[in-house]
Amino acid sequence: MNEITVTPGTLYIVATPIGNLGDISARAIAVLSQVDIIACEDTRHTQKLLSTFAIKNKTLSMHDHNERQRQEYIGRLLQEGKSIALVSDAGTPLISDPGFHLVRYCRNLGLAVSPIPGACAAISALSVAGLPTDRFSFEGFLPAKSGARQATLSALVNEPRTMVFYDAPRRAIDTIKDIVKILGSERYVVIARELTKTFETIHSDTANNLVYWLEQDTNQQKGEMVLIIEGFKANADEISADVVKTLKLLLSEMKPKKACAITAEIYGVKKNALYDIALSLK
Ligand code: SAM
Repeated sequence: MNEITVTPGTLYIVATPIGNLGDISARAIAVLSQVDIIACEDTRHTQKLLSTFAIKNKTLSMHDHNERQRQEYIGRLLQEGKSIALVSDAGTPLISDPGFHLVRYCRNLGLAVSPIPGACAAISALSVAGLPTDRFSFEGFLPAKSGARQATLSALVNEPRTMVFYDAPRRAIDTIKDIVKILGSERYVVIARELTKTFETIHSDTANNLVYWLEQDTNQQKGEMVLIIEGFKANADEISADVVKTLKLLLSEMKPKKACAITAEIYGVKKNALYDIALSLK
């Protein structure tokens, strides 16, 4: 392995473990030890991580509420040639965590921003879910209130890609009940809970069965979790009005083969089922 050294004037986006401290990388330790300052969400939380790895370094708090003020200060330090690391409480910064405004600001100034990759709950969950990963949609946190949550889910009813959500502890049962209501009781869902920790659980079933499972064992409602929802799979016999409308629009612009292929890709329906409809629409 080459010697790891930090470059002056660079902002490093450093991933930290999501539970198991063994998941920190050698590069993360080296960068966190060598940079001039570490920007973090909660200085006390990050200090604990740093002391675990015997890293003695300065921290600077940067969270959702002061990111815009901090970005100018951090930008100035970088322009002076200082090297800075950004970490979040756990996992990869910017992924449902602060840092987006800072990274955009630095990139707009032409400053170097470099990733130190590592744990991310969404990707870890996806890697064990057993659902298609060739295309997926990261949806972050669903709204806390049921009405808004149901509205968000309604907009995803026909989403054919695997969907990845973060959920707050103890909210999962209400979320899964809303999934039953909006996406249907048979929609397949994977719960990835407490990943990399002692009580790691990866459990999958239909949304309906998951409600029962969570009610039977309330321990499963505790801790951190990622929900992965299977994308919408239209039954060849159940072509919705939206699918037909899209197909019709595309048929007016292109050949049936292409129109069917694009519609099939958008809605996850079988191409063959669409050819018959395309013929009848001609
Ligand atoms: N930036 C982080 C990342 O890269 O995963 C995510 C931060 S977000 C504020 C926290 C959410 O991530 C939790 O509410 C939970 O949904 C998910 N999460 C974090 N750690 C987890 C773990 N060990 N197991 C399952 N989900 C986790």
